[in-house]
Amino acid sequence: MTVRIGVIGTGAIGREHMNRVKNRLSGAEITAVTDIDPKAAQRALDDLGIQANFYPDDQALINAEEVDAIFVTSVGPAHEETVRKAIKAGKYIFCEKPLSVTAKGCKTIMQDEMEYGKRIVQVGFMRQFDTGYEQLKQAIDSKLIGEPLMIKCAHRAPEVDAAYTTDMAITDTLIHEINILHWLLADNYVSVQVLYPRKNKHALPHLRDPQVIMLETESGVLIQAEVSVNVKYGYDIQCEVVGEEGIVSLPETESVKLRHKGKQSTDILQDWKVRFQDAYDKEIQVFINQVAKQEDLHGPSAWEGYVAAVTSDACVKAQESGQREPIELESVPAFYTTEKTEAQLS
Ligand code: NAP
Repeated sequence: MTVRIGVIGTGAIGREHMNRVKNRLSGAEITAVTDIDPKAAQRALDDLGIQANFYPDDQALINAEEVDAIFVTSVGPAHEETVRKAIKAGKYIFCEKPLSVTAKGCKTIMQDEMEYGKRIVQVGFMRQFDTGYEQLKQAIDSKLIGEPLMIKCAHRAPEVDAAYTTDMAITDTLIHEINILHWLLADNYVSVQVLYPRKNKHALPHLRDPQVIMLETESGVLIQAEVSVNVKYGYDIQCEVVGEEGIVSLPETESVKLRHKGKQSTDILQDWKVRFQDAYDKEIQVFINQVAKQEDLHGPSAWEGYVAAVTSDACVKAQESGQREPIELESVPAFYTTEKTEAQLS
C-alpha cells in the first residue's frame, strides 16, 4: 500500500517533510495540501514538483478520499483542533510539536484517541530517532554507567530573529530536551527552576539569553540544561549523562578532521535541519511503515505531547517566578504504556 498523505501547513517544516517524502523516503506520496495562504501552498507544490490536490481547509483535506494520513505542520495554536478532527475521521496523524499549546488540549486529544481505540497520533519529537540519542539510551538502559545521577546538556543556536521571545527558549527550543531526556531516563520530572546568567551582548533587548533550566526527576536525577540562542559559532547540541560508574555523552556529528597550519579542527554544523536530517527521515519513514500496515503507531505518543506541555508550562512559570516550580503529571493511561520493540520502530 502506498500511503497517501495530506499536508496541513506548507511552511518551512511542511515543505521539508513533503520533500523528504518525495525524494528520500519510500512507500508514500503527497496527494493533498492545504494552507491559510493558497498561493504559498501552490508555490510549495511547484518548487517541489509535486502534483497534489489543494483543499480550502483542514476539514476538507481530512475528508478527502485520497488521504490516508495527515501531516499537521501548521502553526502550533492550530494543531489541537486539526488533530481532533482527524481522529474523529479515523485518519492517521503525524503532528509536529506542540501537540497542543495547552496541557488541557493534549488531554482532550488523548481522550479522543482512547475513545477511538487505536494509537493513530505520532508527535514530531524526532530526536528519539537520532542515532546518537539511541546509543545514549542503550547505554543507560543496559546500566553500563550504573544508575544515572546527573545530566548536563546544551541547546545552542547561532542566532534568532526578533520574533523569538524569552518564553520561546522553553516552548520552541527546550521542548526537545524536555522530550528526549524524559525518554532517555523513563523518569518523570518533578520540579524546575530557571536561572539567568550574564546576558549575551548579541541578544536583543527583549530577550533573556542564555538561560539555565534546572530540572529534577522523580528518582532524583538533576538536569542542568543550557539554552543559548546567540552563540554565533554554530548549532550545537550537547548531552552528558553522569552515572554511578561512568559517563556517557552524545556523539559529536561526523566531520573530517583537518590538520592545517599548526591546528587540528573539525566543522560545527550551522543548521538544525542538517543536524537532525537523518532523525527526521527516520521518524517519517517509521510513521509511513506503520500506517501502511494499518497498525497502532509506536512513535512519540500523545501522552509524550502531554508530558512536554505540562513540563513546558512549569518551566515558563519558573522563568517568570524565579522560584522552583512543581511539575505535576497525571498518571499515564494503560493505553500509552505498551513497550516499543525494535521491529516496531523500524
Ligand atoms: P511556518 O513556516 O510558519 O509554517 C506554518 C504554515 O502553516 C504557514 O504557511 C501558515 O500560514 C500555515 N498555517 C497556519 N495556520 C494554518 C491552518 N489553520 N491551516 C493550514 N495552514 C495553516 O512554521 P514552521 O516553522 O514550518 O513550523 C510549523 C510547526 O512545526 C510549528 O508547530 C513548529 O513548532 C514545528 N516545528 C518543529 C520542528 C522540529 O524540529 N520538530 C522544527 C520546525 C518547526 P501563514 O504563514 O499564512 O500563517
